[in-house]
Amino acid sequence: MSAQVQTHAADRIYYDAPEQLTFTATVTAIREVARVHGRQVWQVALDRTAFYPESGGQPADTGVLIATARSGASLEAPVTDVQEDEAGEVWHTTAKPLQEGTEVRGMVNAERREDHMQQHSGQHLLSAVLWRDRRRKTVSFHLGPETCTIDLEGPPLLDEELAAVELAVNAAVAQALPVGIRYVSPDEAQAMLQDSRLRKLPPRAGRIRLIEVPGIDLNACGGTHVATTAAIGPIFLRGTERVRGAVRLQFLCGTRALRAARSEYEGLAALSRALSTGTAEVQGSVARLLAENRTAAKERTALLQALATAEAVALVATAGTAQPLLLHTLDAELPGHTPDFAKLLASALVAAGAPRTLVALPQGESCAVVLAAAMGNCGTELRTALTTLGGRGGGSRELAQGSLPLTALPALAAALLPL
Ligand SMILES: [Zn+2]
Repeated sequence: MSAQVQTHAADRIYYDAPEQLTFTATVTAIREVARVHGRQVWQVALDRTAFYPESGGQPADTGVLIATARSGASLEAPVTDVQEDEAGEVWHTTAKPLQEGTEVRGMVNAERREDHMQQHSGQHLLSAVLWRDRRRKTVSFHLGPETCTIDLEGPPLLDEELAAVELAVNAAVAQALPVGIRYVSPDEAQAMLQDSRLRKLPPRAGRIRLIEVPGIDLNACGGTHVATTAAIGPIFLRGTERVRGAVRLQFLCGTRALRAARSEYEGLAALSRALSTGTAEVQGSVARLLAENRTAAKERTALLQALATAEAVALVATAGTAQPLLLHTLDAELPGHTPDFAKLLASALVAAGAPRTLVALPQGESCAVVLAAAMGNCGTELRTALTTLGGRGGGSRELAQGSLPLTALPALAAALLPL
């Protein structure tokens, strides 16, 4: 477990210079936090850092800390996670121990940070527009590896409301409004809360960092943001779902939105090629195919019924109606000879005048059977007969089905003959 380490909380470079992703710093503390598969994992504190620790729905930065020895050799310590503790200290998780006093060069993973800045700044704008235009309050935000969501109070949003919000928020992006950073004292922040210029205050003590998009958004926030709204890029609203009394709205910003649109376009284009139709006609084509499929299924059922009736009439004409049990084995190789067809045929045989019939459908080493009769109780009789033959089955008085080993079929036919 970690020892108590006395430190002075690091200066956070990203507060005032979120675009600065490389920096130099000195290690002020190190503690061992865990062993993962026998390997030590350390947390390092620095006197200053550009690494953003996970908070407020925004994941931590990753990157690397590089120390240079007197010999000139350099040690690279990848940073896999960054967390802040209750005292406000920022801890960089790494598998390499960096001794206190070591000078390091830090490099934040730029692609990951820029993505997070786009999503997080986009969320500010989206929440602000949802409040301004629809009086919908954001209760929480989640930035995931694939998509982002906000939870909103109130009932689900209509599709046309979503479309209108999407246009409005993208218009604010296009205005390239500055995303300003300023600080106020706790007293000033309280006053702003009182007269509703601020919606809520963070729990931390000391001066309060405010993020302001003129005319649109004013928020107390410690996160990383783009310099102007233009850098957010497109904001793409997706579906909503109900989650514990709230409405969860999925959205994507910037490069993520472009990637999603491209991937979905490629999916649509593949469908359009498969259907030999334009992308705009895919929806109509699929609806037509589904309707055709329903009609075809109905026709197939009717044809199988007609086939069963015709076969039953022919079989009864040959076998007569005097046999106590008409046994008929279907050729499983023929198309349409399914367990469902065996049921249709058994019922049709009884309808054609056979008093009792057993239709068998061999399936490899096992055999499906259907018993139908005008009198008696097929369900009970078949179940009883099958229990002694290593099979199982059951059904109604008129029709029962089951299965058994193919070799036991003659024994079943014998067992079903009246005494
Ligand atoms: Zn923020």
